[in-house]
Amino acid sequence: SATIGILGGGQLGRMLSVAAARLGLRTHVFEPGAAPPAGDVTHKLTTAPYEDVDALAAFARSVDVVTYEFENIPTAALDVIEALAPIRPGREALRISQDRLTEKTWLEALGLSVAPFANVTDHASLEDAVQRIGTPSILKTRRFGYDGKGQWRLTTPADAAAACADMAGAPAVLEGFVDFSHEVSVIAARSPAGEVACFDPGENLHEDGILRRTTVPARLTPSQRTDAVLMAAKILNALDYVGVLGAELFVTSSGLVVNEIAPRVHNSGHWTQNGCAVDQFEQHIRAVAGWPLGDGARHSDVVMENLIGDDMDHVLELARETNTALHLYGKTVTKPGRKMGHVNRITPARSN
Ligand code: ATP
Ligand code: MG
Ligand code: MG
Repeated sequence: SATIGILGGGQLGRMLSVAAARLGLRTHVFEPGAAPPAGDVTHKLTTAPYEDVDALAAFARSVDVVTYEFENIPTAALDVIEALAPIRPGREALRISQDRLTEKTWLEALGLSVAPFANVTDHASLEDAVQRIGTPSILKTRRFGYDGKGQWRLTTPADAAAACADMAGAPAVLEGFVDFSHEVSVIAARSPAGEVACFDPGENLHEDGILRRTTVPARLTPSQRTDAVLMAAKILNALDYVGVLGAELFVTSSGLVVNEIAPRVHNSGHWTQNGCAVDQFEQHIRAVAGWPLGDGARHSDVVMENLIGDDMDHVLELARETNTALHLYGKTVTKPGRKMGHVNRITPARSN
């Protein structure tokens, strides 16, 4: 049977591996870190750094297609792999989503609305950016940020100096603060044949920059719902994308604003595991393996709640709840804010 290579052995790689196994496919996970969550469930695990060209080449030769669970894969590693196996989603999606400045510029050129933004390279360009965009605003590192890390909120222009010192010369963008009523995301898939399928938008609540909860259905008017799905499809088609993509959107009185896109399965799509016949992980595996996309229609209302750090202290109480599906990643709490698992609480769908 076909083997899918997965770069990254975190919880997303783990759940992708489980989905692949359910379809009778094998996975081979490449992960630099020791004892990754995906290690327990994948057919094969390679533990090596991304600089190990021989290990990368052996990995790529052992699989039919390579996909990934995170977007910050070093370019040189992708070059090695691409010579030996197809990478899905393709390189363009990675190039764009690895860098917030490139991503915002690209989304804007596509005709989608994004927060006002400006490139920041040093203190002088930050002062210029604050002049132009004003406050409140958010300074974000261009690369490697997640869970709100690498971000500084500017309440007044006087906050610029301290934020700049903290950034320590990392390339950044200043973003105007979007006055949104709530946040939603669309998890969308596209097959090699160009078939597109979107899951119902979910409504996301963040706490301290980390996703706390996703609720479906989201509070959206029918036209906002249509907009959200069309925006996601536009992004997929423009990238000739293959696989699942997550698009985070702000809901404002003047329309939907794209916050960021992730070229992979997404935490805000975990509800699909218990809300749909085919979840985001299976949909992604289907797409990268060249299968037809599956039925992602929502059959239940779901509230997905992340289990972060010490939330695990209550895991046995959660295990006793009715209509609650527990998903644990087999991790230990090594630092506060670590995502340990999630629960999906389901009720029969009330509405669509
Ligand atoms: P993720 O873990 O989703 O990749 P991240 O570190 O890339 O997170 P963002 O998604 O850019 O961070 O921001 C995290 C959260 O901060 C957003 O979901 C939103 O709540 C808030 N936020 C980010 N940018 C803005 C903005 N321009 N205006 C208002 N709020 C914002
Ligand atoms: Mg992000
Ligand atoms: Mg985000």
